[in-house]
Amino acid sequence: MTGPAPDGRAEPWVEVRVTELDSAAIGLGPDAAARPAAHALLRRLCAQYLGCSPEQVPLARRCVTCGATDHGQPRLEPAPPGAARYVSLSHSHPWAAVALGNVPVGVDVEAFRTDVAWNRLRPFVLHSDDEVPQDQRDWLRVWTRKEALAKMTGHGLTRPLARIHLGPPHPDGWRHTPDEPAHSRVRSLDHDRCAIAVAVATAAADTAVTVRAQWSAPPPGTPADGRGALREESAR
Ligand SMILES: [Zn+2]
Repeated sequence: MTGPAPDGRAEPWVEVRVTELDSAAIGLGPDAAARPAAHALLRRLCAQYLGCSPEQVPLARRCVTCGATDHGQPRLEPAPPGAARYVSLSHSHPWAAVALGNVPVGVDVEAFRTDVAWNRLRPFVLHSDDEVPQDQRDWLRVWTRKEALAKMTGHGLTRPLARIHLGPPHPDGWRHTPDEPAHSRVRSLDHDRCAIAVAVATAAADTAVTVRAQWSAPPPGTPADGRGALREESAR
């Protein structure tokens, strides 16, 4: 990689890393393997940005609800010099996704699957103003967008997803979410085998946000070096 965007850049940016895990090789169950792998991936991404070793990355947790530091949203604390201090991580066997940015960020990944009874989950997932997904993949995209938003605010699964209205797709590729704080927006970063969504909050609705995503196994259509460069100018 060329390294995350340099500090001092005015516009918001987010770096996303997605990797496919080989938990069989580690000899652990899918979830037991995915959690530490996601944390290791996040440490590697932050270490590249900070110019330190992964062990030195000051990763802490803080719960936005109760203030405890043994659970809740991960963050770089103490905040490193420069603006990038927001992190997020997600795993869904066999995938792990992490994000680092200079604006509040949330990321969520879910492996595509076809065995979910979405119609039964519908009251718990869809806001009354949300459009109804057409197939299993669409449902997972909606799910990941909402999870990414909930992670971005720090509420995670304590927040009922049905209270989150995603808003219609905007020509800029994002969904600007009308009921969320501070100009929140979310978008999917499609892969052929998993749904990935990244959410950010910016100071103004028309602020451009650069999202750079890199996959360990590149999805179709990305350059051979595995870099999925996605540069977005967003306007409202
Ligand atoms: Zn708490």
